Amino acid sequence: MYYSFFDIFSIGIGPSSSHTMGPMRAASRFIQSLQEKGVFEKTARVRTFLYGSLALTGIGHGTPNAIIYGLMSLNPETMDVSKNYIEEVKRDQQIKLGGIRYIPFHDQPDILLEKKTFLKEHSNGMKFDALDENGNILLSEIYFSIGGGTVLRADEINQSVTTPTYDVPFPFDTCTELMQLCHDTKMGIADIVFKNEESIHTFQEIRNRVQQIESVMQQGIDRGIMTMGKLQGGLEIPRRAPLIYKRLEEKFHANDEDPLMIIDWINLWAFAVAEENASGGQVVTAPTMGSAGVIPAVLRYFERFAAKKSPFDLAIGKGVFLLTASAICSLYRTNASISGAEVGCQGEVGVACSMAAAGLVAALGGTNAQIENAAEIAMEHNLGLTCDPICGLVQVPCIERNAVGAVKAVNAARLALQGNGNHLVSLDSVIKTMYETGKNLSEKYKETSLAGLAVNALTC
Ligand code: SF4
Repeated sequence: MYYSFFDIFSIGIGPSSSHTMGPMRAASRFIQSLQEKGVFEKTARVRTFLYGSLALTGIGHGTPNAIIYGLMSLNPETMDVSKNYIEEVKRDQQIKLGGIRYIPFHDQPDILLEKKTFLKEHSNGMKFDALDENGNILLSEIYFSIGGGTVLRADEINQSVTTPTYDVPFPFDTCTELMQLCHDTKMGIADIVFKNEESIHTFQEIRNRVQQIESVMQQGIDRGIMTMGKLQGGLEIPRRAPLIYKRLEEKFHANDEDPLMIIDWINLWAFAVAEENASGGQVVTAPTMGSAGVIPAVLRYFERFAAKKSPFDLAIGKGVFLLTASAICSLYRTNASISGAEVGCQGEVGVACSMAAAGLVAALGGTNAQIENAAEIAMEHNLGLTCDPICGLVQVPCIERNAVGAVKAVNAARLALQGNGNHLVSLDSVIKTMYETGKNLSEKYKETSLAGLAVNALTC
């Protein structure tokens, strides 16, 4: 299945694509259903049930707030992130349903955490009930947040509908098929993606979207390195990006010749975005919000340190980077998962690392075989990566993990560029292995905070 660039990279509000952005979209879709079914005007109350992983780590991930945004039909790309909508709802005990009319709303009885209930289809399940004035149910719908902000209603998940399907000129399910297409057409992976996108969108739309995605990534870095203070959620963790930035600037002005300073810069950029995400700031799902810092950090590394070695001009190089990363993500979404709740952090920071490594090699003019090799190396050394966020917050280990993932992506790209693309383990086999490993991981290590660091490091 071909996943469009427009579906893979979306702009949203942190800290989690599956626990924040997905539930926000689900609540918003429920409001749309109320309108389509003609019961919106009669709705006097909406009750939301969060199940499984959404209930266990939802508070730390900001899921209840996301539900409120969605019920208000706010758009994550355009909403005013500086406005405190939640405070207003809590203060006034009412919500502007669909952004149109007010109904009473009390977050405790109206958003219920069903921690012991896991729905069989997916661990990120939620149910919305719309009630009339007498408490009768007008409409009830179940949704699942399956990763990367993608949401499916119960009837859709049962029909295996996962995303809009496109009739593109160069469809591919596996990397073997993608490589064959590149070979037959003598095109690069980014060209294949661009041709496919041109069958869905206009040239101008594609150009604008690529620029917009890159720009939101860059803004996330710039905001993150300037914002001081502590992260919300109770762990009292100070934001580290501004401090790292200050030290790096001092070293730069002192003509410090530390040969590994580049690593500090990559760490800084990943920290900046991951801390923005943890604070509920605007980031790009790349492929998820928990892993949103990896690709911006490697993209900034390309721009600042490596672009001179690229055969492309800077803007085209960045476009090639992102389009190639999009193709790699499409392979993971088709054959595995990008949901931490389904396959652990392999599916989030692991996939981001694989996408970034491939994108960097492409932007540096590597061959298709070297791109595939880079993506494979990056995932091979993320296999088995668990998801055990402390207190359910996308902070520890998530923020450092973004930095380590970004540095690993650069290393994987450099390793691949040392060779001619020939290697033993194919990207297809490593994706299959990642998925099987994820399925075999205990639920305790898949975004439930029931084991690992979440229980050994600290009691929440
Ligand atoms: S550990 Fe990884 S998958 Fe889990 S919340 Fe953190 S970034 Fe997401």
